[in-house]
Amino acid sequence: MASSGLLTLTDRGLFCERGNFYIDPVRSVERAVITHAHSDHARPGMRHYLAHRHTVRLLLHRISRSISTQSVEYGEVVKMNDVSVSLFPAGHMIGSSQVRVEAGGEVWVVSGDYKRQPDPYAAPFHPLRCDTFITESTFGLPIYHWPSDDEVVAAILRWHRANTACGVASAVQVYSLGKAQRLIGLLAHHVPLTVSPGIHAANECIRASGISVAETSILSHSISQETLIRGLILASGARDLQDLPAARSVGVDMAFASGWTATEPGRRRNAGAGFVMSDHVDWDDLHKAISETEAEHIVVTHGFASEVVQYLREQGRSAEVLAI
Ligand SMILES: [Zn+2]
Repeated sequence: MASSGLLTLTDRGLFCERGNFYIDPVRSVERAVITHAHSDHARPGMRHYLAHRHTVRLLLHRISRSISTQSVEYGEVVKMNDVSVSLFPAGHMIGSSQVRVEAGGEVWVVSGDYKRQPDPYAAPFHPLRCDTFITESTFGLPIYHWPSDDEVVAAILRWHRANTACGVASAVQVYSLGKAQRLIGLLAHHVPLTVSPGIHAANECIRASGISVAETSILSHSISQETLIRGLILASGARDLQDLPAARSVGVDMAFASGWTATEPGRRRNAGAGFVMSDHVDWDDLHKAISETEAEHIVVTHGFASEVVQYLREQGRSAEVLAI
């Protein structure tokens, strides 16, 4: 990465030498600051984890009860040597955070995964001014433009009604942590929900943090055909359903909810219907976020980084790719 800046890329991940900590490290380190609990950002094997308190709950559940952790609130400043570290909402999922790093009058912000659409379980994305902004670019192409949640919910309910009329069960394949709870928040008032055991476990962990998640049925061998057909199933994968007698009897229309649906409808994971719903920023929200940072230098990672950097340079911005 350019500059003798606050953060540099090492073989263990993004490192702040001055504060002696890593952000979302990819290999074992002494001190890790974790943006959020998804497994490609929060890995086992760190000596010490610092994260938002909701993320810490999830790390204890997903990694081990015995890891060393420090919980912080959004905006709380933690000193690491002479470096001030604080977390601010990223809007990606429960507990998800941007990391603000400040020392010697210089401010860097690491976005982690983020989105600007509303989410019942994620505090809204908080724009931060900084000198250098390190942003993800998972959907960093102009073709990615997300519909509103209302549009997605209406499409899911139409699809579900059509399947119910035909006596077929409807299942949406989602990540058990993040997307599942977002959909539960959006759909629980409209239709009875049944979730896979993995999603139920994630819900229980979130409830243990004092956050309410609507009650749902759990997929099990004893589930009836009637429950399967009338309700909507949220599953982590097709294998959640393949051994259930009732599912085999009625048949299941498996859909999925993802940003990739916008460009690869029905192709990924051999799924049927697809609903465009992402927990990452689309093209417009990515550039809105970049503008609001007023950063002199933009570092782009995770996704269409080359394309975003090229676009920013054409706009006269200083930008580079970071291949984490
Ligand atoms: Zn994530």
